Amino acid sequence: MAQVKDIVTPEEELLQLYELQKIHSKIDEIRVLQGELPDEVQDLEDEMAGLETRISNLETELNQLNTQITNYNITIENAETLIAKYEKQQMNVKNNREFDAISKEIEMQHLDIELAKKRTRDTLRDIETKKQYLQESQKRRDVKRRELDNKKKELEVIITETAKEEQELVHKAAEQMGHIKERLLAAYNRIRNTYRNGLAVVPIERDSCGGCFGKIPPQKQIEIAQHKKIHLCEHCGRILVSPYIDPEYGDVEHDEELL
Ligand SMILES: [Zn+2]
Repeated sequence: MAQVKDIVTPEEELLQLYELQKIHSKIDEIRVLQGELPDEVQDLEDEMAGLETRISNLETELNQLNTQITNYNITIENAETLIAKYEKQQMNVKNNREFDAISKEIEMQHLDIELAKKRTRDTLRDIETKKQYLQESQKRRDVKRRELDNKKKELEVIITETAKEEQELVHKAAEQMGHIKERLLAAYNRIRNTYRNGLAVVPIERDSCGGCFGKIPPQKQIEIAQHKKIHLCEHCGRILVSPYIDPEYGDVEHDEELL
């Protein structure tokens, strides 16, 4: 731990604390990012699993439909065999009654053939539709798979990079803590742990607290801007600083990203 300087003005102290806050906010941001990335991969994996199930169901359905076609063909063949047999019998009948009875049988077999042919046509249409659907699903799955592979690679890179950045920031934060008096640091940590966004030191923004957006009276704003002592937001208890304390003030984008 670095030595705390003996003579530190309240303004310097606040600036150091604000610097610490900025380091911590960057660490928080990285941790949020690290938490969100695996979710993205998980979402893609879930989507992939859904598509795989759909594809496998379609394949099963197509197999069943093809079996049906085979069965219809068998029905037709059997009927044709029977018709041939009946037609032979008809040549040897003894009377009209027998002839008519066989004719009826033949007619029945023709009806069976017609029905099987109609069912075959319907099933073939069904197969066409399902095949198209299967192809679309396979295409979508292939796209998703590539997306997932890329996401995973991207994730690995980001994880490595952010872990390094995080480590550096944690080191920097520890160093920065050495510049701050213990009592103030304890207060800072207490406030920081109170809020989920981890903000303990916030600048005034548009006459309001940058943490809870509670209004700050003009007189108090003037006092805060002087940075002669620590001022807490009366609404949320966060430590308030004037935005002008920040040497990077004016870099609005940076500020908005941070807070
Ligand atoms: Zn507040």
